[in-house]
Amino acid sequence: MKLTLLGTGTPTPSLKRASSSYLIEIGGDVIVWDHGPGAHNRLLEAGKRAVDVTHVFFSHLHYDHCCDFVRLFLTRWDQGADRIPELRIYGPPPLRRMVGLLFGEDGAFGPDINARIRHQGSIDIFVARGGKPPRKWPKPEVTELRPGDKVQGNGWTVTVGAASHVQPYLECYGLRLDSAEGSICYSGDSGGVAPGIVELAKGCDVLVHMNHYFSDTEPTEIYRLVCGNHVDTAKVAQQAGARTLVLTHFLEQVDQPGVREQVIREIGRIYAGPVIWGEDLMEIPVKGPTMYKME
Ligand SMILES: [Zn+2]
Repeated sequence: MKLTLLGTGTPTPSLKRASSSYLIEIGGDVIVWDHGPGAHNRLLEAGKRAVDVTHVFFSHLHYDHCCDFVRLFLTRWDQGADRIPELRIYGPPPLRRMVGLLFGEDGAFGPDINARIRHQGSIDIFVARGGKPPRKWPKPEVTELRPGDKVQGNGWTVTVGAASHVQPYLECYGLRLDSAEGSICYSGDSGGVAPGIVELAKGCDVLVHMNHYFSDTEPTEIYRLVCGNHVDTAKVAQQAGARTLVLTHFLEQVDQPGVREQVIREIGRIYAGPVIWGEDLMEIPVKGPTMYKME
């Protein structure tokens, strides 16, 4: 099992950090958790293409977690030329409505899809890619999730937990994948010491947690419960007993020399495990960091 951070940024535009996205490769499955702006280029840089992706999960439907999904979905359908299974998509409601409004026959991309199905030039390239006409309209398998739900895959299970973010306007989840090779928990966007995330992350090998703000610099207490701070992140990891903590979702003001080190030092006073400062395209050792000797 391999975990790669595709996007460790926020909605704030950044060339250094794409918005939220994570890649898990396990067995023959290529699973993407969230796919915010810039993340699709990172997927390509990680050596994967849209047609390789088998499952997409969303923690919530803020745009910094789903904008590049449009690119992933349409590229996968177009390049896949009906030769690969339909994409399996999971996330909070109204996911089915969102997918329909984007890719249904009356959806925003309906005219594009219709033209690619009907125009002879598009049919020709479809055949050149190995497709057999008539080309099919994409029919993804969409599953709307609730906290407590489990999704069974081939040798893995994803469990859904409640995050503390912008409910009730958006449903906001954490996700946890368990397999024989280890367990990965992702907080989604979650602030404060969210009981649902502490519960979901219990005993996990890796907890990937939002670290949006430096403690005591949040504009308001409500904002802290939505976006968190580094002391709260440390408490979540400590209370959950996570073996490794990976920090992500960084604003520029936290991502500064000296500030980074202070955040890690102060987290270390609460949480005793290894703390990894996430970077785009970083591969995370699921069973914890190991030293190796240079020869
Ligand atoms: Zn969010």
